This record gives sequence, structure tokens and C-alpha cells, in this order.
Amino acid sequence: MSASDSSRYIKTIAVQPELDIAPGFDSFSTPTYRGSTVVFRNLAELRAYGDRSKTYWRYGLHATPTSEALCQQLAQIEGGRHTLLFPSGLGAISLVYFGLLRTGDDVLVPENVYGPNRDHGDWMAREFGITVRPYHPSVGAGIASMIQPNTRLIWMESPGSVTMEVPDTEAIVAAAKARGVLTAIDNTWSAGVYYRPFEKGIDISVQALTKYQSGGSDVLMGAVITRDDHLHDRLKRTRMLMGWGVSADDCYLVLRGLASMPVRLAAHDRAAREVAEWLTKRPEVARVLHPALPDCPGHAEWLRDFSGASGLFSIILHSRYTREQVDAFVEALKLFAIGWSWGGAHSLAVPYHVDTMRPAGTWPPAGWENAGELVRLYIGLEDTRDLIADLKQALESQLR
Ligand SMILES: *Cc1c(COP(=O)(O)O)cnc(C)c1O
Repeated sequence: MSASDSSRYIKTIAVQPELDIAPGFDSFSTPTYRGSTVVFRNLAELRAYGDRSKTYWRYGLHATPTSEALCQQLAQIEGGRHTLLFPSGLGAISLVYFGLLRTGDDVLVPENVYGPNRDHGDWMAREFGITVRPYHPSVGAGIASMIQPNTRLIWMESPGSVTMEVPDTEAIVAAAKARGVLTAIDNTWSAGVYYRPFEKGIDISVQALTKYQSGGSDVLMGAVITRDDHLHDRLKRTRMLMGWGVSADDCYLVLRGLASMPVRLAAHDRAAREVAEWLTKRPEVARVLHPALPDCPGHAEWLRDFSGASGLFSIILHSRYTREQVDAFVEALKLFAIGWSWGGAHSLAVPYHVDTMRPAGTWPPAGWENAGELVRLYIGLEDTRDLIADLKQALESQLR
């Protein structure tokens, strides 16, 4: 129809134009369905609110076709069945705590867990009457002796943040299952591509989609992925009551990143291993904590459980260098930016004072005599020849 046929007034046309859009526009992109109001066809449909078999779409906060496409694709990538989306990876972590734990419950968290997860646990312990007990990432089957009658959840992270230990998740899951304790893993490092949590019997996988799924360093989002219907419903109810949702535009950006994610991961893996191996030969470096290298605690578990590595690893510089010298090394890097959130195309470096992040007296581990300051490196998609030259100039100019 032509634009002038409408018999309505302009204010009505401004809100409700009579459009005639030809069907059949078919492209590879997922349409971005923005929407708070979901329009029901009749009252029966509106009143069936709450009964998923009768009305799937209810409110833009909970789901849109765009978020649903992302949920389904993420579950398929990781081998799960259900996905819940959050405005950040930390939001996803928080949901697991609030969805599953009540006053009087106990949760076990690895000592090398992602820092804000540890802070969240401390907050739960301080203000919500939940006990949060740290366990050593290399505990393995020894976790069994830490499980109490009120233990509801065991968190895992593989490899752990910053110090990169790969836990024996098989042993931890076996001990948890024997006592009916739920297990959750922060699987961000492998992006769900190189480590398959549900094949290991883990109940919940958390992803910071901010990292590899986005790949652009420009979106914040998190996911909780499960296989069990009942567990999903429980977590979903908590998410709904807390009013958490994500923008369809952000979902679109993550969907856009997913197609290239496995190929990007393979490139990060290849480049990071090349840089890590080069670093093992440097006299300034005491240890390279990359799960694919034998110096990394849990290397045997990585070989058993993972089909690849990603771009994030750490180095420990020789103890003869001061904190100030190591800071100067990081600041002398030209291609490595200083910043936290990895997973994009740009390489990053951050120094950490690990002794302040661990229970007193536990870092560095016994036998690591030359262990000084730790620097976490993220290897982006630049040419490794340039990255290695950059590391070389910074090491040689600052660590003498
Ligand atoms: C970045 C990160 C998170 C949190 O993701 P945000 O979206 O930044 O909140 C959680 N876990 C790990 C291991 C991470 O690296």
C-alpha cells in the first residue's frame, strides 16, 4: 500500500503505522528484538502467564527471541541444556550463591578463585550467615574430608585465576556426588570449548561471556548453564525474582562473536603457547604457569581433561627483582595494555601480589625458591613475533 492511504490521524500513525513489510528477508544475523512489553493475542494468553506450555513470551526482562537464540547456542556449545543470562560474569556467580544457599549452609571455594567471587563469598559469610571455606586447588580427593552435613555447594575454577592451578575436577565431583553436594565451575578460561563440564558430572557451568564469547572487549555479560531441568527452574526463579535481564543489543553482539570463537581460541592457544615457551628460556623468568607446560600445578589434569588451552597464563619472575622493577617491566611493554578484562584481540599484562591474595604463609608454594612477583599475561591476536620482541625489550631494559 502507499503511504498516503491511511485514514488515521498523525498521532496514531506515529504510534501504530499500518506497515506492509514483505516477508522473506533472510540473513545470517539474529534479529535484535528489543522489548519490555510483550503483546498477547488475547486475554486467555495473558492469563496463562506463568504456564510455560501455554505462553512462552511474557516480559522483555525474562527472555526475547534474541536472548533465547544466545541461550540455546551457548548450551549447545558447552553440552548443557539450559542457559540463564546476566549483565556480567559476576552477576552469574552471584545468582549461583543466592539461588542455592540459605542461612546455615556451607560452601567450599578454591583459594585461587576469581577475586570478586571470593569477595562475594566473604560478603555472604559476613552478612547472610553462610560459611564459606577455602580449599587448596590441588586438594583432589582430599576434598571429601572437608564436606560437612550442611555443605551444599562446591565451587571449582579450572584453571584457577592468576596462579593457574588445574584442579582434579573428577576427584572433586566424585566426592561431592557421594555426599549429594552440588558442584559449580567457573569455566570462563576454556569458554566451554576446551573443557566439557557436563561430561565430568558437574551440575553448573558459569561463563563470563565478557571474555571469549564476546571477543570484542566491549560487552559485559555472564551465563549460568545447566543440564538438569529442576536445577535450572530453581535458578531461573531466583533470577526472575531478582529482576535480572540483559539487553537484546548486547545479546546480538555476543551472538556475533560466537561464530568465530573456536577459531579465535585456536589462534590464542597457538600464540600463547609460543610466547609461554619462549618465556621458559628467559633467565629473568623463574616459572611459567601455563597449564600446557609441566611447570604448572595440575598439568597432568590439564592433559587428561582439556582439548586445548586459551590465551591467558602467568609468569613468575625471579625473586631477585623488586616489585618496583616488575612494575617497571609491565609499564615498559608497548603492545601489552594494562587492563583486567581479557578475551578480546588485544594483549594484556597485569602484575599481582599473590601473597596478599592467599591464606597467610601459603604463597609461594614450598620448593619454589626463586619465585618472585607474578605477572599475568593475556596473548591477543597480534603477531607473536612482535609480542616476543616487545617482551624481550621490556625484560632487557627493566630487569637487569
Ligand atoms: C572476568 C571473569 C569473571 C567475571 O566476568 P565479568 O563479566 O567481568 O563480571 C568471572 N570469572 C572469571 C574467571 C573471569 O575471568
